[in-house]
Amino acid sequence: MTVAILALQGAFIEHAAMLDRLGAAHFEIRQRRDLDRPFDGLILPGGESTTMRKLLHDLGLFQPLREQIESGLPVFGTCAGLILLAQSVEGGAVCFGTMDIAVRRNAYGRQLGSFATVDEMRGVGRIPMTFIRAPYIAAAGPKAEVLAEVDGHIVAARQDKQLVTAFHPELNDDLSVHRYFLNMIQT
Ligand code: GLN
Repeated sequence: MTVAILALQGAFIEHAAMLDRLGAAHFEIRQRRDLDRPFDGLILPGGESTTMRKLLHDLGLFQPLREQIESGLPVFGTCAGLILLAQSVEGGAVCFGTMDIAVRRNAYGRQLGSFATVDEMRGVGRIPMTFIRAPYIAAAGPKAEVLAEVDGHIVAARQDKQLVTAFHPELNDDLSVHRYFLNMIQT
């Protein structure tokens, strides 16, 4: 099993470190020809969703990746990566739009958007959750399953082979969300 990590910008190295610790093979996607290598899952990291969206289009990555996600490629989006998958984006533009969720960018305000907590994620357990200028999911449609809520806001969800978290599991020691994603790829 090989996982591709979108490495245009943002916190991609941290995801690679988590996959190393889990013994999962991975490589970075930086340009179109990187898509020639076969991969079984894709991680969209945190960072700045507007910058990533622009680079995806400029580098010709948007269309092929969108097609693969629509065809069932397992994908895990954290924070900005969540925004890239959302069907509706308040405070920004839609990118892949493959997931039946409405997201609010910078939902906690610029100052309050960064905080850490410990809470329950369904199918994963109690885990540390680090939020950085985080979005939250304002609404999840019938196709999306809510996996975690913090202070009444949805912060993790799944739809078939798409997994999203508003927080950054790659910034903590706990490997369980990445393990959950690897399981999604295998089953
Ligand atoms: N605020 C960022 C955005 O809207 C997301 C922040 C993050 O990924 N840590 O793209």
